[in-house]
Amino acid sequence: MVQRGQTEQMFSKLKEVLPGGVNSPARSFPHLGMTPMVAKEGKGDTIVDVDGNRYIDFGMSWGALILGHAHPYVVDATIEYVKRGSSFGVTTEIEMKIAKKITEIIPCVEKLRFVNSGTEAVMTAIRLARGFTGRSKIVKFEGNYHGHVDSLLLKGGSYLRSMNSEASSRGVPQGVIDDTIILPFNNLEVLERFFSEYPVEEVACVAIEAIAGNMGVVPADHAYMKRLRELTEEHGVLLLIDEVITGFRVGLRGACEYFDVTPDLVTYGKIVGGGFPVAALGGSAEIMDFLAPNGEVFQAGTLSGNPVGMAAGFAALEKISQPGFYEELNKKADRFLLPIQEKMRGGCIQRVGSMFTFFFGVDEVKTSDDLVKIDQEKFKAFYHHLFKHGVYLPPSPFESSFVSMAHTEHHLKQAQEVIIDFL
Ligand SMILES: *Cc1c(COP(=O)(O)O)cnc(C)c1O
Repeated sequence: MVQRGQTEQMFSKLKEVLPGGVNSPARSFPHLGMTPMVAKEGKGDTIVDVDGNRYIDFGMSWGALILGHAHPYVVDATIEYVKRGSSFGVTTEIEMKIAKKITEIIPCVEKLRFVNSGTEAVMTAIRLARGFTGRSKIVKFEGNYHGHVDSLLLKGGSYLRSMNSEASSRGVPQGVIDDTIILPFNNLEVLERFFSEYPVEEVACVAIEAIAGNMGVVPADHAYMKRLRELTEEHGVLLLIDEVITGFRVGLRGACEYFDVTPDLVTYGKIVGGGFPVAALGGSAEIMDFLAPNGEVFQAGTLSGNPVGMAAGFAALEKISQPGFYEELNKKADRFLLPIQEKMRGGCIQRVGSMFTFFFGVDEVKTSDDLVKIDQEKFKAFYHHLFKHGVYLPPSPFESSFVSMAHTEHHLKQAQEVIIDFL
């Protein structure tokens, strides 16, 4: 049994000063009946808690750390910029370098704007879509998460059942809810019906996690994404592919390349900041130039594009854009997951490349409706077993886990044995 005395003590102090002891709710390990992890340090594929317990980390800061913890190249590049001064409130050269790098990699991105979180990137993209089209409604999909933007914190009440959505948080005003339409994810029939029945000339944009990562890994069908692109284009609706998780994860060009679909707007976060609070939205110059100062859609940020985050992101992008990076990463994930898959009964593993989810109690998850059948008790037992044996997964059955380039063969084997032992 692992000793967690320091963790218990520190977490009770944290709860005195932070709501729930955390700065982001999932960190409280909801519904798992255990004290959350309080981390002290990380190196490569390992995270160490305040008691000194070591865990093989498949959370990797919700996918941000594709190179693992404290990658020496990223650390060195970042320290260099910390020493030069961490923020100037004016433009710097490193912003040009990382932006150039991204525009070279991603064909649909001619211009970008850097912000501080995925939430901010999506929020700005929505405003930009509204400003560009002069329309006010937006569409999102059930089970997709786009950060804690008011207009996207909605659930249920999907188009088929009724037009009334319900907020998934208190504090979201009715007026905002009224402007958001929720459609079921990956349901072609409803999508077709929506575009033929609804006054789509009121719709500014459709936002989608093309490979959903926030209800566990659930990729949309290829045919679905193709049709979504056709329909949006036909009706002058902008398509926003939210690649905050999938960008630079499922391949260098993310979900857009996976589906061979070109969106009008794309958002990045997590990996793009190399472990720092950096995110971005991008698209064609025509659309992006609607942002101030060129255009009339206002957006600003005191610390946006700050050189430390830019340097970390740039260093990470340099590493992951080396030839063969994703082949090697995905092979690592194969070696880890394929033997587990063979032993999996009464559940399934869904994955795209190095992102994956263990779903218990179902054979497949294709839409958010399938999630109600998930065996949460089984997941809880699974989670406790892994945690006790030094394997850390994101603390919810509805999250993605990640293999990073830092995972050693030895640790992957070790984690694999722990998992198979449970199964
Ligand atoms: C994580 C995430 C966000 C929110 O990003 P934050 O940096 O947490 O605000 C938005 N969209 C998707 C798809 C995400 O996975």
